[in-house]
Order: sequence, then C-alpha cells, then structure tokens
Amino acid sequence: MAFHGTGRQQTVCGNLFPGSELGHKYFCVNTSTGATSTGLSATPSLTGPTAPAGTPRHPTSLGGSIGGGAAVPQPHSSPASEVPSPAEMEPDRPIGYGAFGVVWSVTDPRDGRKVALKKMPNVFQNLVSCKRVFRELRMLCFFKHDNVLSALDILQPPQMDCFEEIYVITELMQSDLHKVIVSPQPLTTDHIKVFLYQILRGLKYLHSAGILHRDIKPGNLLVNSNCLLKICDFGLARVEEPDPSRHMTQEVVTQYYRAPEVLMGSRHYGSAIDVWSVGCIFAELLGRRILFQAQSPIQQLDLITDLLGTPPLSAMASACEGARAHILRGPHKPPSLSVLYMLSDGATHEAVHLLCRMLVFDPAKRISGSDALSHPYLDEGRLRYHTCMCQCCYSVPSGRVYTRDFEPPADRNFSHSYDNSLLSVWQGKELIHRFITEHQQGKRVPLCINPQSAAFKTFIRSTAWHSSKVSRKEER
Ligand SMILES: [Zn+2]
Repeated sequence: MAFHGTGRQQTVCGNLFPGSELGHKYFCVNTSTGATSTGLSATPSLTGPTAPAGTPRHPTSLGGSIGGGAAVPQPHSSPASEVPSPAEMEPDRPIGYGAFGVVWSVTDPRDGRKVALKKMPNVFQNLVSCKRVFRELRMLCFFKHDNVLSALDILQPPQMDCFEEIYVITELMQSDLHKVIVSPQPLTTDHIKVFLYQILRGLKYLHSAGILHRDIKPGNLLVNSNCLLKICDFGLARVEEPDPSRHMTQEVVTQYYRAPEVLMGSRHYGSAIDVWSVGCIFAELLGRRILFQAQSPIQQLDLITDLLGTPPLSAMASACEGARAHILRGPHKPPSLSVLYMLSDGATHEAVHLLCRMLVFDPAKRISGSDALSHPYLDEGRLRYHTCMCQCCYSVPSGRVYTRDFEPPADRNFSHSYDNSLLSVWQGKELIHRFITEHQQGKRVPLCINPQSAAFKTFIRSTAWHSSKVSRKEER
C-alpha cells in the first residue's frame, strides 16, 4: 500500500529522542489541505505526560506526504444527532492500493474525523472472491488490537438487488514502513526497536487468534507520525490449517519476504512464515535496503542459502523434490551470518542475535512471534511503547500505571466455519448483506456514499481501473 497526496504545512512532531537533531528537521508531517478536506489539526494523541525525566515523551514524528492525524476525533459544527440519517460521505483523494482493494482518505460527516475508506472490489464476481472478501471483512470486524488495523464502520449496503460493492472505514494512517525505509529520514535504533516491538505485538495477537497474515511486508505496516504501527491488508490472510495433509496455496507473500519453506514448495506451512517476513523487515530497517532482493523465486532461495548456508536435509523435510534437488545440486555453502553485523551501526550483537533467531531456515526451529517478544533487544521498545504510545496503560499523578499483559493474545480464535458453508455467490451476497446490517445495528448513524458527487465519480474511476488490474492478477 502506498500513499500519495500533497502536503499541508503543519508540523505535528513531538520529538521523542532528546538530543536528536533529527526530530524537527526530518520527522515532521506535512499534512495536506486538499480542496475537499476539512480542517484537521493533525495533532497526534499525546500521552504519557508523567513519563520520567529523560524518557522520551513521544516518539519522533515520521514524515509522510499525506494529511491525516488519524484517530483524532475532531469537533464538528453539527452534532451527530442532527446529522440526517444516513450520513453521506465523500471521498477526498486516493491514498493507496492493497492486495485487493483501493483506499481513499475521507471525512466522516458525523464527527469530521479523517478516516480511510476502502472499497473491496469484485466481491461478487465468483465464489472464490466472495469467500475471500467475506473472510477479510469478518477479520476486520473481529480485530481488537492497537497494532492491527480494524474496521471502524462499514457503509450501509443498498437493497440486495443493487448490492455490488462493499466499503469499509478504517483508521487513517499517515504512511507505511516501506515509504519510511526508502525515505531519507534517519531511522534510529529507538525507532527500529519500537517498530519491531509493535509488529511482533500485532503478530502475536493474529497468531493467537489462529490467523496467518501471509503478506507481511513493509508496505502492509502502516505508521503514524507518532510511530504507532498497525498491520494491515488481510486480503491474503487465512486461518491456520492444523491438518498437515491439507494443501495450502503457495501464491502468498511478496517474494522478497517469502519464507524458504514456501519458496521450496512446501504444501503446508504455519505462522513461522510471518516471522520470517518480520526477520527480513528487521534487517531492512537496520540496513535500509531489502535483505534478499532477487529476480526470481529460485534466486530468492539462492540468496537465502548464501547467507544461512546450505540447509541440512532435516530442514527441507516438507520441500518439493525439485527444490530439494536444486539445493543439493549446488555447491555446499557455509553460513555467512557475520555479514549481518555490517547492515548498520544498529546491528549490535543483541540485534543480530534476534535476527538470526527469526531467519532460521527450518520453520520448526524458527523463533515464534510470541517468544521473539521476550528477547532482550525488545525491552526498550516495550518500555517506550507502554510509556507514551499505548492505549492499555495510563498515567496518574504518582506515575504510570502499566497494564498486566503487555502483549495480550486474542480472547478467542477467529472462526472460519463460514468458509466452507458458502456454496454460491448469491448465498454469499445474502450472508455478507446480513453480516453488515447486523454489524451496524444499534451503532452510530449509518454512513453511505453520495454517488452524485464529483469526488465519488473520480473514486469509482480509480477503483474500476485498479479492479481490472486485480482481476487479471487473480486469474493468473
Ligand atoms: Zn500499555
């Protein structure tokens, strides 16, 4: 997912790191004033006023090219009770494209808050896409975690006969980790630790709910100016398959972040594939370049074995015959993990130690997301997050009151029983319609799109263009 847009000159930085010259110079968000946007202070929610002296009060703001200041409810001239029902919403501008869907920045007419509007395309094209969208929709409504993007609302669907599109409202985030990594903004060790901590914190939650993300990459890690991070884009996510005899698709994970077991054609894999991706991202944060940047899946595997050495046969147990033969045919490679120390000055012994636990060829021996959180490298990230960024701890005059569980798991497993019960597109349409209607019951004034607005027509054109691209991708 990538953002684009123009900038409003408004500084929203809170300089997290005392003594850093970088904060105000680079870590500002130039938020935009598009013609259609309403006034938005773009002030990140400052918390932790009682943070101990010397402890950064707030993470250094990160630059981004899009306006936002997400999650900051803004006063609105007319209270929600006076808004006619349903409230109409107009898109402001496009902000990115997920694996399956187009995202726009919009203003919620009920409270003036800037939020993200995602159109889920081609929902009812066939049963496969119907199941995929319903799964993603249910996941977005299931998630309750600060480091995982969730649905704030779903636009009111029309009558069944006209029901073709689904629009989901999520929090608006200002940038993503890909944009941050390729930008000239310096990334300090403190940034890397607080980002990695949040990625793993969100991942632990997903895995504890039995969900594999399957496309963890920097572009799917949204970040705000205050360094808050949320995992997004669940278009490829699915429930963990406990039965090893059940085949799973290998068309997952952007190649650079693809785990060796997937590259080697393993028909069954688990949450370890996401941890591998996080390891690649950790190295990328340190080195500011993609760790394994190959042109093809075979070269991808070669780059991995260049670093980790030729894997033992036991690590290739689930590999397909061709992939195993490819490894065995090649020269025996010794591991060269010491090159990881050269990624940057931030590649300390502790950092490389954790990195080497994530980049383990054998998924059975790779560290889990939950165990990675216990690594001492993340202690500072945890402290920083819970001192001034989280929603789970709070400050009282005498100090900070910390939550009991810093990295809470999901309170229940995500159910995928719907997946198998969907037998036709029409039945799926009915189920999704009912799901959205029931989800909205008793909530706020329902939202709908104003199809007559010029902005909406532009929105539709952009989504139609992107939808055709997605369709071609799905056909392959
Ligand atoms: Zn907390």
